[in-house]
Amino acid sequence: MAGDGRSGEEKIERRGLSSLAIHAGSPTPRVDAPVVTPLVHSTTFFMDPRPPGEVRYTRYGTNPNHLSVAAKLAALEGAEAALPTGSGMGAISATLLANLNAGDHLVASRHLYGGTLGLLTGELPRLGIRVTLVDDDWESAVRPATRALLVEAISNPLLRVQDPVPLVRLARDRGLVLIVDATFATPVNLRPLEHGADIVVHSATKYLGGHSDVTAGVVAGSLERVEAARRCLRSFGQNLDPAGAWLLERGLKTLVVRVERQNQNAMALARVLSGHGSVTRVHHPGLEDHPDHALARRLLRGYGGMLGVVVRGGDEAALAALRRLRMVRVAPSLGGVESLASMPRYTSHVHMSDDERATLGIEPGFIRFSIGIEDARDLEADIGEALRGEAG
Ligand SMILES: *Cc1c(COP(=O)(O)O)cnc(C)c1O
Repeated sequence: MAGDGRSGEEKIERRGLSSLAIHAGSPTPRVDAPVVTPLVHSTTFFMDPRPPGEVRYTRYGTNPNHLSVAAKLAALEGAEAALPTGSGMGAISATLLANLNAGDHLVASRHLYGGTLGLLTGELPRLGIRVTLVDDDWESAVRPATRALLVEAISNPLLRVQDPVPLVRLARDRGLVLIVDATFATPVNLRPLEHGADIVVHSATKYLGGHSDVTAGVVAGSLERVEAARRCLRSFGQNLDPAGAWLLERGLKTLVVRVERQNQNAMALARVLSGHGSVTRVHHPGLEDHPDHALARRLLRGYGGMLGVVVRGGDEAALAALRRLRMVRVAPSLGGVESLASMPRYTSHVHMSDDERATLGIEPGFIRFSIGIEDARDLEADIGEALRGEAG
């Protein structure tokens, strides 16, 4: 959508990510006009009786707040276009519905967000779309009916990092659409389109919004692919409300400083907790013993704010440690300014048996931390003491 009161987009494309996060999509300066994009609740907009282009309507994702946050999101991902959606699941469902028809086949990683797995295994088959879940043998899962590949750039909760090279090659060779959910990575640490992915999706509820106060998603890629997702959004109604778009735009302005701080805090904690007497293992791609450390070093600009910690003594010991936390809060979800802790055993992986979790590498005593932007020494003290049993 061009001509919406923004200018100089060609020039600002060359700016750094922090500048883009703040300035891309912002209003054109005019004397007495607001510096910040105003929140527009209006669902409909004055038009020429016979409009030259498309009619504007909030469900179409063309409210002014949608357009300004879309420009920011596209600039951050290095995409031609972006579409904000009402949730991460809205972004994923609009993308899949736009790219798959009855009779088509999707190959997806087995290590996906639970909600995505539910969509793939519970809903798509009803529509005649077949899905094969893979660990890492993508190639042999591809069939003549395969149309798309779906993967998360960094997996939950083991933080395994996906190498884009073989997937991009496979997608190119076989004419498939490569869709990457980069929620855990954020465009600060990885921009999948630069590596050859066709579409990047996010749960903007997490790092992009960054304050645990807005549920949103984004689809980014070429204009053609984003417009295809928009057609689904118009029909299936996954639009973001204007207030959500406004909050997302505000959150994005601080994305780079937040994520850089989260990268630093999580790295510092990973090192400290690796030497902690009550911890048997720390999962973090910045640690040399992480199975994907070499790849992460090459691929990622930062290792991210997520951390997996296995507590000596199993689930009971982990539960006791969570109850001793005084600053870090126990809650699901991730990516906000506040540090959160949860046990995948009781949240994302609750429907699995102990054996299934063990096969995935989720040992008893596994705590997942989403590290926020608090002072590192306070986080180290709070988590360190809770794990030692010294607090309270
Ligand atoms: C949370 C999450 C989603 C779903 O996002 P919602 O905003 O909750 O709909 C999808 N993918 C990943 C990796 C997530 O963490």
